[in-house]
Amino acid sequence: MLRNSKGWLVAALVGLNVAVIGAIAWLLRTPTPDAPAPTPAMTAQQAPTGVDWSGRFSEDADDDPLCADCNVLMIALDIFRPDHLPCMGYPVNTAPNICEMASHGTLLENFIVHAYQTPVSQMSLFTGRYPSSSGFVSFASQLSPSVPYLPESLKAAGYKTVAMGSSFEVMTDMSNSASKRRSFTREGLNPGLSFGRGFDRFIFTGNRNLPTDAIPWIAQNSDERFFLWMILGTLHWPYGGQVDPAERDRFDPPSYSGPFASGRMSRLGFDELSHIYKGQLYGDTPEDARPLDAADDAFINARYDVGLWDVDRFIGELMDAIPPEVLQNTLIILHGVHGEDLGEHGYYGHYDVFDTEVRMAMVVLNPRHRVEGARIEAQVEGVDLAPTLLELLDLPPLPGTDGSSFVDVLRQGEGDPERITYFQRIPLWEDIFRHKNKMPQAFIDQVGALLDREVVGDTGLRTLRWKLLHREAREVERQVSWWTYLSGQPVERPEWELYDLQADPDEQHNVIGQHAEVAAELQAKLIAWETSLFAAPPREAP
Ligand SMILES: [Zn+2]
Repeated sequence: MLRNSKGWLVAALVGLNVAVIGAIAWLLRTPTPDAPAPTPAMTAQQAPTGVDWSGRFSEDADDDPLCADCNVLMIALDIFRPDHLPCMGYPVNTAPNICEMASHGTLLENFIVHAYQTPVSQMSLFTGRYPSSSGFVSFASQLSPSVPYLPESLKAAGYKTVAMGSSFEVMTDMSNSASKRRSFTREGLNPGLSFGRGFDRFIFTGNRNLPTDAIPWIAQNSDERFFLWMILGTLHWPYGGQVDPAERDRFDPPSYSGPFASGRMSRLGFDELSHIYKGQLYGDTPEDARPLDAADDAFINARYDVGLWDVDRFIGELMDAIPPEVLQNTLIILHGVHGEDLGEHGYYGHYDVFDTEVRMAMVVLNPRHRVEGARIEAQVEGVDLAPTLLELLDLPPLPGTDGSSFVDVLRQGEGDPERITYFQRIPLWEDIFRHKNKMPQAFIDQVGALLDREVVGDTGLRTLRWKLLHREAREVERQVSWWTYLSGQPVERPEWELYDLQADPDEQHNVIGQHAEVAAELQAKLIAWETSLFAAPPREAP
């Protein structure tokens, strides 16, 4: 696939524009009442959130999750780290509202997504197809009109369909023609473009802000059956950047005085975070480096956490604002789109397919399904979401999906512990970031021609115990690695990596040498999946 590099200059300018709009929106936003103020020392105790959940079930709620004619509120979180939720064992009270939601419904602890970047992962959720199966494999992709798309199904079923969000990656046209790349706006909709298909309104609320427009929207539009898709890009770099400055230090380590403590560097934006690799903060050359330590890591994590706390506070306000009669008729699904490595593998960003980046969680609040505080450990995956939602709503399935409905998993409160999930690391991160206006020209010159040739990536699979990665792009990665450019250190990967997620949840030790039998069995499965993915011709709608 060929790409047009010049278009990205326009994208950068658009990005600057939306950043300004975002800043203005932030300045104009209505002040919100202070949430309870946990201290960093506070542990996983759930603070009272003020949301009244007493009327959350409809009168005919029973033990069956089917929810025909229900409204749908889907809340998608970019850069989500479910292991940073107190109800997933995190020792800081980052998310009392999300955890309280989970305690009133079902928490799927292992919702595995298929890519580590917003558009590629989100498209697999809306098509029920793996990235290479739908053909949507990079920022430059557009979805073939022949691939069925979940929002169109809901539109066809009579739903009022509205998108609101702050992830420009899915809310602007990122395809390869510069002349067509532009933001969707509060007024506008370009239905021909991939993510906008099937939506009556498609509203970009501003870059990385909280889509607070959703609160009055629900109050004013609940007389018609609706599908409201909210996607929050708020947790992206700069960590905590959208948080009220008076609150931003709420989780900071008390006596931190490192390089990010004050001044420009405290912003924790692109300039800082993309220049950290394996304990060093790099400048323009590999020689220009300063060491970082555990205190710096703790500080950066605290700023991620305060961003999560702010998003959680907004979700609490949103839930609080939904009238009981709407709550009793609305299926609410909150989930991650992709994650973020917060130093576990030497960087702060989403760059690979480690669990930090693809292991998400999902909260399901279903007004007809009388279940509270159910937790499901068994894996489900991104391509299952569209089949599940359509079955819950008693609508016809989306043709040609790779996934299968997990309605039975919700019904029974447990799933198949042997389930295998699959994902792709596609495209390489460098494919996107060589186009960013802040990238050094020398780096762009070095990698551009190579990455223009084709979209390459790795594949992987996951069980509850094991993670297997097939580094199919390693030859290209060795030549284009941003980390090598930055640090001078070559990136050498073996073709296969096996991690024991129970013994080594941070995926630090490739144990393929010690578990040859496990590896062989999983390799056969992954190769079979790759074959089915790459060999089959793209499926057309019937
Ligand atoms: Zn993202």
